[in-house]
Amino acid sequence: MITSIAQEFFKLFSRQPRLFRAPGRVNLIGEHTDYNDGFVMPAAIQFATFAAAAPREDRTVRAFSANLGEWIEFSLDDTNPTPPRTWQDYVQGVALMIERAGHRLRGVDLLIRSNVPLGAGLSSSAALEVATAKALLGASRIDLPPLEIAKLCQQAEVEFVGMRCGIMDQFASCFGEDGQALLLDCRTLDHEQLPLPEAVSLIVANTMVKHELAGSAYNERRADCEKAARIADVPALRDLEPGDLGRWMPRWPQRVGRRARHVITENARAMQAAEALRAGHLHDFGAAMYASHESLRDDYEVSCPELDIMVELARGAPGVYGSRMTGGGFGGCTISLVHHDSVEALRARLIEGYKSATGRDAVIFICRAVAGASEERAA
Ligand code: ADP
Ligand code: MG
Repeated sequence: MITSIAQEFFKLFSRQPRLFRAPGRVNLIGEHTDYNDGFVMPAAIQFATFAAAAPREDRTVRAFSANLGEWIEFSLDDTNPTPPRTWQDYVQGVALMIERAGHRLRGVDLLIRSNVPLGAGLSSSAALEVATAKALLGASRIDLPPLEIAKLCQQAEVEFVGMRCGIMDQFASCFGEDGQALLLDCRTLDHEQLPLPEAVSLIVANTMVKHELAGSAYNERRADCEKAARIADVPALRDLEPGDLGRWMPRWPQRVGRRARHVITENARAMQAAEALRAGHLHDFGAAMYASHESLRDDYEVSCPELDIMVELARGAPGVYGSRMTGGGFGGCTISLVHHDSVEALRARLIEGYKSATGRDAVIFICRAVAGASEERAA
């Protein structure tokens, strides 16, 4: 991949580029907790976006996406652009946020190529943002700490792309470590590395459905969480524990209470899952995953029949420790934790079982935890 991208770049731009890699991610547990100042547990995965870049003499950014076969071009001197609502938003948004933070960039020629499936819930968007940031900064000889890069990329997605996301995806893409999951505190942005046992694989199963509700439901859930925190007079639901539920459930409107209960118990589950990983207790970790799914299904109401079917297919299969929906919900992916030896059997079971239950073809990704964004050397 690295060598062929360098060659492809040379064909397009007749120069030698520098090469940067930024991975996609999965989230093992901690769903809908990020915007409640809570805990999430992502891992960067081997699917990554590569950016080949060489500086220009002017302030133009010219980029080609090999995935889409599309060119984009804009000027860094355009300081108040309107988002064109294409993939340019991600690249231009990142450039804009870097410059607004006070760093002056040079123009660049960019080639983007990714093996993160686009729009499948493995965060190709954050991978594109972080790869772009590394390339723009590298070409301008600017050195920024990874936390700064993650924040600027998140800011680009929120303010320029218009997606009100937390920082998890960009953080994981910047801070991933080989063989490790990250326990991230979304309030303090402190994180802890948690080794994933060698014998374990992460299986992502894409249901290939995306139900309409996703956007509006997300905003409704956020509003319910804010309301619950306001009534309980805490800055965020992160500040409540399962032990507080007895006191607050009767005072919250019924639906708001169920939403809050998901967030509060999910935070506790993320902590329990971290403890289970530290102790090497994979069955306890898996139990927290199943409980997470049930809470997302029943209290947060963001699952759908296809996700439920996929989790039930994994449950009880040999070598599977746990399974749950991951991402915003109403479609998208499940993640399952499974022993190495059972990966192929599980893959077959999910594909066949899902096909016979829904008539649809699932897409399965076998993921492992890898290091975060880096500069690569062409061989
Ligand atoms: P996800 O992050 O789950 O993959 P998103 O909808 O957040 O899904 O981001 C997908 C979008 O990101 C794509 O529609 C495209 O605009 C942009 N994108 C991601 N990777 C690339 C790429 N390699 N080339 C061009 N655009 C990309
Ligand atoms: Mg995304």
